[in-house]
Amino acid sequence: MKILVQKFGGTSVATLECMRKVREKVADGLKRADKVVAVLSARAGDTNNLLDLAGQWSKDPDRAECDVLVSTGEQVSASLFAMLLKDGGIKARSLLGWQIPLITDAGFGRARVRSIDSDALRGFLEEYDVLVVAGFQGCTEDKRITTLGRGGSDTSAVALAAVLGSVECEIYTDVDGVYTTDPNICSSARKMDRIAYNEMLEMASMGAKVLHIRSVEFAQKYKVPVRVRSTFNDDPGTLVTQEDSSMEALLVSGIAYDRDQARVTLHGVPDVPGVAAAVFGPLSEKGVLVDMIVQNTSLDGLTDITFTISRKDLKSTLGIMAETASNIGAAEVVHDVNVAKVSAIGVGMRNHSGVAARAFAALTQEGINILMISTSEIKIAILIQEKYVELAVRILHDTFGLDWDVV
Ligand code: ADP
Ligand code: ASP
Ligand code: MG
Repeated sequence: MKILVQKFGGTSVATLECMRKVREKVADGLKRADKVVAVLSARAGDTNNLLDLAGQWSKDPDRAECDVLVSTGEQVSASLFAMLLKDGGIKARSLLGWQIPLITDAGFGRARVRSIDSDALRGFLEEYDVLVVAGFQGCTEDKRITTLGRGGSDTSAVALAAVLGSVECEIYTDVDGVYTTDPNICSSARKMDRIAYNEMLEMASMGAKVLHIRSVEFAQKYKVPVRVRSTFNDDPGTLVTQEDSSMEALLVSGIAYDRDQARVTLHGVPDVPGVAAAVFGPLSEKGVLVDMIVQNTSLDGLTDITFTISRKDLKSTLGIMAETASNIGAAEVVHDVNVAKVSAIGVGMRNHSGVAARAFAALTQEGINILMISTSEIKIAILIQEKYVELAVRILHDTFGLDWDVV
């Protein structure tokens, strides 16, 4: 049985008219495979509205109940789409996470997929030609509803594609594919035909929300080819796949940005062993993900420690740091939310030096101050003031030749 997994994002299912387009894509999928598993996001805006509602009802919404609430967004779109398929004469039914079941850990709001009952899915596929699966959601072993984190329907789709042996996982969205940078902020961004898993992973983790990070991790681990394409045209899109030697020809293949950054600094920290552990231990216990970290050289036995986190974790981080600062005898804790991160990514960087210097020079020329830097084998990430983020993206895009057509 040839099974194709297709995922449709929030803007693709926002209205009845859009869902009719989605139905065409699914009907086309049925011509290319025996069965289709269509994974749907909530309609655009629904997840945000539900989260707002939680915020109105509670100062600090219970995470587990929040998941019960926000998962209904996908329940709405999946049921509506199943109706539409049936009206179009296609044998279909909707499936919620718990009905499969798609089992996750108990990390409410950012749960990780543990297992998927693929036999049950194959059983359903005996009876139906299309299964409409509510993305973004699962349940724990003890039947509590969970969600996989913002953008998590991509991960639902790739995980399903992996367990069902789908030839390709198609991710349908509102852009034609993966671009050299976000086409909505840089008009000279160009669509890539292919991108390597590890580059896509860095792009996603540096803020390119076109794919959820964990979906790329899954795709790479289980070797699922992922094709990002548009619901609204027939462009073949971008294939996310294994790296090959031709991909190294480009020094930098993409620029990403992330506005969801906050910077926290502890001033006057005693420069003695155990201090970093005392700062970052409590944060990791509370599940706060720390991104960049810089510790200054010590002056008179005192130093500064600066790090970045997601803005949603700022309140809890400042609470934890107030306590930590008094425990370790730090002078003060300051923070800044008007910061953002821009990154240049490319497997070609591995074998070349000087990429970072070129990026710094280009930003300096435009008077953009560099606040923090972090690098990996195939990435340079730079923290700047948020007001410069779009300018910085365009400058880096141009600096690394991504504005020009490759001949
Ligand atoms: P969906 O609701 O379909 O999951 P998302 O909004 O999550 O869609 O992701 C698509 C968006 O990702 C695009 O509209 C675009 O603004 C943004 N994006 C960011 N970086 C890139 C990139 N490098 N290539 C394509 N799109 C990108
Ligand atoms: N509806 C969820 C969100 O808005 C999941 C998704 O769209 O992938 O984050
Ligand atoms: Mg998305």
